[in-house]
Amino acid sequence: MNNTISDEQLIEIAREYGTPTYVYHAEKIKEQYNKLEEAFKDHPTRIFYACKALTNINILKYMKSLGSCIDCVSINEVKLALKSGFEPKDILFTPNCVDFAEIEEGKDLGVNINIDNISILERFGNKYGNSYPVCIRINPHIEAGGNYKISTGHIDSKFGISIHQMRHIERVVKTTNLHVQGLHMHTGSEIKDAGVFLRGLEVMFEMARHFDDLEYLDLGSGFKVPYRDDEIETDVNTLGLQLTEAVKNFEAEYNRTLEIWFEPGKYLVSEAGSFVVKTNVIKQTPATVFVGIDSGFNHLIRPMFYDAYHKISNISNPDGVKRIYTIVGNICETDTFAWDRVLNEVREGDILKFHNAGAYCYMMSSNFNSRLKPAEVMIKNGKTFEIRKRDNFEDLLHNQVEVL
Ligand SMILES: *Cc1c(COP(=O)(O)O)cnc(C)c1O
Repeated sequence: MNNTISDEQLIEIAREYGTPTYVYHAEKIKEQYNKLEEAFKDHPTRIFYACKALTNINILKYMKSLGSCIDCVSINEVKLALKSGFEPKDILFTPNCVDFAEIEEGKDLGVNINIDNISILERFGNKYGNSYPVCIRINPHIEAGGNYKISTGHIDSKFGISIHQMRHIERVVKTTNLHVQGLHMHTGSEIKDAGVFLRGLEVMFEMARHFDDLEYLDLGSGFKVPYRDDEIETDVNTLGLQLTEAVKNFEAEYNRTLEIWFEPGKYLVSEAGSFVVKTNVIKQTPATVFVGIDSGFNHLIRPMFYDAYHKISNISNPDGVKRIYTIVGNICETDTFAWDRVLNEVREGDILKFHNAGAYCYMMSSNFNSRLKPAEVMIKNGKTFEIRKRDNFEDLLHNQVEVL
């Protein structure tokens, strides 16, 4: 299956909707979803799309149509999920450092609650006892993930309840009669070593022995997709075989079936997205040749924020000679997307494509420099749909109260 959007199609979209524009390919999302589902077909498994990666309502509805469940990190994501048609039982709410009232709101909406702090566990237990089941997010202290900023399971991380606090968790659960239905861990993003999942699972089994009626083990995410040409994606088939076998062995000991839950974000939507921009200027300096585009880190912050790599291609001059460029944005602050990139010769007016622009790209955009946020377009069954209009000038004043 080759679910890529052709460059001609992207140029057509740039012409029709303008630039900069995010473009998402529905069938590519489906391909990723099916791969994951297939890899775990021999065991009861549920996939919860980690929607913070991309929450356009059409993407959420599409995920629902694929059969996905959904993982939310804020009450507003929960509300978006409900609005998109997800049932409360298919929604997992995994907040961190939120007010107790927000967790209660999730409970009142009937969604699965994932608790990642002893004080909250205690409060929830005191108030609701065993009347509302919960999941506990543990921190396994496993070093994993592409880089420090996107790792969440290490000793310095604010996420989860430490495995070393097991005695305390037990005390709270026993005293308040809490019904713990699931255990959860999410150790980070872009995990290269699949062994991390297995090590995480071993830690989970150890914890699970302290609870009698668990129904699921949630392994979070960390599935890697290629951003660079020489990178590969997490081998979900091998992972499926290994994890399924480990869980089956544990089930024999535990004496009941345990569903496996996952929360992929990037894996489902990263590659489905392209970001299409226009070259405003070419600027030769003593040091390099800059390509200045009609976007900036206000639209795609990952390179400046995480040193993330996004492949960039010149799609309007695919046969141009290869030259070396520094690609920068139009924000008045250092705003570099890529140093020393070899691209087919870029001319003013050329259309460039950023690859892997589905996850954490539009979602982290802002109006910095009073620039307008890009449009979003979805391609489904070969048809294009504008699924978010480009901001307009009035949007910059929205909610401002003019008192002078
Ligand atoms: C962000 C997040 C994910 C998704 O991570 P990806 O690297 O995008 O797959 C999953 N679970 C939780 C709790 C998260 O916060």
